[in-house]
Amino acid sequence: MVLEAPRQALRAMDIPVPRPKPEQVLVRVHACGVCRTDLHIVDGELGQPKLPLIPGHEIVGTVALAGERAGRFAVGDRVGVPWLGYTDGVCRYCRRGQENLCDHPLFTGYTIDGGYAEYTVAYEDYCFHLPASYGDTEVAPLLCAGLIGYRTYRLAGEHVEHLGIYGFGAAGHIIAQVAAHQGKRVYAFTRPGDVQGQGFARRLGAVWAGGSDETPPHPLDAALIFAPAGALVVAALRATAKGGMVVSGGIHMSDIPSFPYHLLWEERIIRSVANLTRQDGEEFLAIAPQVPVRTAVQVFPLEEANEALSCLRRGQVEGAAVLKVAERGNADILRV
Ligand SMILES: [Zn+2]
Ligand SMILES: [Zn+2]
Repeated sequence: MVLEAPRQALRAMDIPVPRPKPEQVLVRVHACGVCRTDLHIVDGELGQPKLPLIPGHEIVGTVALAGERAGRFAVGDRVGVPWLGYTDGVCRYCRRGQENLCDHPLFTGYTIDGGYAEYTVAYEDYCFHLPASYGDTEVAPLLCAGLIGYRTYRLAGEHVEHLGIYGFGAAGHIIAQVAAHQGKRVYAFTRPGDVQGQGFARRLGAVWAGGSDETPPHPLDAALIFAPAGALVVAALRATAKGGMVVSGGIHMSDIPSFPYHLLWEERIIRSVANLTRQDGEEFLAIAPQVPVRTAVQVFPLEEANEALSCLRRGQVEGAAVLKVAERGNADILRV
């Protein structure tokens, strides 16, 4: 499913199976999660994507072929391919353990082709082994909503007792489970009036759920924002206690309205999260099966990627949308 230009529907196309470079593996895709970032790319809100582009950065598949210098995975191994597709390893950020901020990165499904396809190639050092206890479609959302959600949660600090989550979609529903498991009291904020979403949040362990315009019953030590609405930063700041932190987990957000300084006073902090490090991924993928995190997924066939994106745009997905890739005469394709 190919994006030829922003603000156009993806087009189903038959293209040659990509050949792995020496450090890459060829992956036969089984499932690929649909992330809000895909929507930002398709809608032209994120500049300079590779074009034409195959989107998708929550890829679950099996290794079909390894490049000459690739040896981490055997043919047939199940792997996960996340958003962080490559880093230079030598810039000042990479050298100080912040590869998520690398000066010369490649991002899966954005600056290199991703997983809305039957096959993709990936740099093997950026792929993950996946916990065996998860099926292909249920593990897919862990690869971005889970990983970047986890980084967002982790950056809020260790002393958090009362945790607010604004936007209860793919990332929110995963991180609520981790936080509740770790003994945090979770307060879920949905679109005002979204009674169904609030019920969903309570079932996943939230002690309170309400609209983003409501005041929680207890001030928050930290608030995580997973919805792309800048006004939520101010709403969340208003709900935090002294020394509290508001962390925005998204890559794109509408403008943040101006607000009085007293909302930030008393050492409150606003920060964003960009991308992920491989360490975030390894940590989260070890924690998820212990919780165990259960993902709610709405599965669409690959050919219905546009429909999946539309549902996400309209806020009609409970949990995460995932594309399932059917198998068809693939052995023949590979003989090319
Ligand atoms: Zn770098
Ligand atoms: Zn994502």
